[in-house]
Amino acid sequence: MREAWSSHEIWLYECQYCANVWEEAFDVLHADGGHGHEAIVYRHDGHLCPTPWSTHECPECRSENVFATPYRRRPSVPRSRRDSDLELLSRLRRLNAW
Ligand SMILES: [Zn+2]
Repeated sequence: MREAWSSHEIWLYECQYCANVWEEAFDVLHADGGHGHEAIVYRHDGHLCPTPWSTHECPECRSENVFATPYRRRPSVPRSRRDSDLELLSRLRRLNAW
């Protein structure tokens, strides 16, 4: 039986209305929810809160048109991995053609 564990996540928020950018830190509590399901609870400043990607309000203009991104997962990572896969593929093709 697995035990509950916690992790720390930082999310970046960008207001699509006034271009305000800010970040929020969350404590994430993972627990075994039974039947192979993982139950995840988010805490912000010690209080239970909705998921980081749910509706957020811009602290500057109160717009809810806010774009959320996990801090650690950057869009450039899968792109560069795809590039190296292509490089490997072309190298294999060259080997076959040799
Ligand atoms: Zn705003």
